[in-house]
Amino acid sequence: MDISFVNKVSTPCYVIDKQLLVKNLEILKRVREEAGCKILLAQKAFSMYSVYPLIMQYLDGTAASGLYEAMLGREEAGGGEVHVYSPAFKKSDMEKLVKICDHIVFNTPGQFKMYKDMIENCGRHISCGIRVNPEYSETEPEIYNPCAQGSRLGTTCANINHDDLQGIEGLHFHTMCEQGEDVLERTLPHFESRFGKYLSGLKWVNFGGGHHITRDDYNVDALIELIKSFRKRYGVDVYLEPGEAVALNAGFLVCEVLDTMKNGMDIAIVDTSAACHMPDVLEMPYRPNIVGSGKPGEKEFTFRLGGSTCLAGDIIGDYSFDAPLKQGDRLTFCDMAIYTTVKNNTFNGMPLPSIYLKDGEEIKLIKSFTYKNFKARL
Ligand SMILES: *Cc1c(COP(=O)(O)O)cnc(C)c1O
Repeated sequence: MDISFVNKVSTPCYVIDKQLLVKNLEILKRVREEAGCKILLAQKAFSMYSVYPLIMQYLDGTAASGLYEAMLGREEAGGGEVHVYSPAFKKSDMEKLVKICDHIVFNTPGQFKMYKDMIENCGRHISCGIRVNPEYSETEPEIYNPCAQGSRLGTTCANINHDDLQGIEGLHFHTMCEQGEDVLERTLPHFESRFGKYLSGLKWVNFGGGHHITRDDYNVDALIELIKSFRKRYGVDVYLEPGEAVALNAGFLVCEVLDTMKNGMDIAIVDTSAACHMPDVLEMPYRPNIVGSGKPGEKEFTFRLGGSTCLAGDIIGDYSFDAPLKQGDRLTFCDMAIYTTVKNNTFNGMPLPSIYLKDGEEIKLIKSFTYKNFKARL
């Protein structure tokens, strides 16, 4: 891989690669066209709105987790549909949401009832849905499983009836995370056996996110067939709202080695941080790839990479290299477009990484951050 761009940026920074993004978007567009479904960008995974005009050439709109993301989608995603779902809405937020949303998905029939009058009297048509819990998910660990015992995410079939659906146009479920088409195929029968009886009067079903459609081994053809057959069976529109799949493997985090030391092993301290700039490395947890590195012991020189914060556990992982790391070396972490810029923080007063867009040979600075951004939030 050509990573000559790493010498043209100031670190730490995220570099989003336009061509890699387009590669994903082409796949999603094919699903939309061949399956006859709609696909939204789940902004919670990736909200770099400078590329929304590009994304909206391929997708139908945006999905929001609350008021601010809905506003961003309305402002920046051209005329794309604006959908919002939240476990519960505040009244003051709903007053603004009814002015900008096309779909509002409620977590319970009770939330819908609370806002039904406001929606009916807002002067525009809003398509309302209920998030249901099909009580089947293959997602692990528990913290990511929306169908775990006692989950607050979505209403179970025991807690909904026909009367609850007066004024409702669709159902929504979101039970997947980084999964293949096979998981959706095993999930749909659970959704259908519990909620299929309600679909005859409805307009749409939203299959949520977590579909890893743009991963190399994803069975895109099977997904297309599955959606086509579902649409045919029930006569409803189908929506998908992937976040990860839109920008999967489409970005990098470039950092610089600040120092090296030894403590029973070789350690390198970098000008980024797992805790601040790639929190999922600690939360999921997972081990991001670094261009040109190997697993510990695979190449001659193994280093533990740690962030420059005070957190003892701010460790990105152990990696091996062909040459010993030294101060000034640049390291490029892969798959850093998703769940990074949207989740980063300034713990320890760590600077926020700049954001660049790479378009072929050209590399453009989109955003950089200063002390003012740190101070403004506190
Ligand atoms: C997280 C989430 C998504 C996006 O999930 P990805 O795993 O990023 O595809 C979509 N819809 C809902 C309701 C979500 O909570």
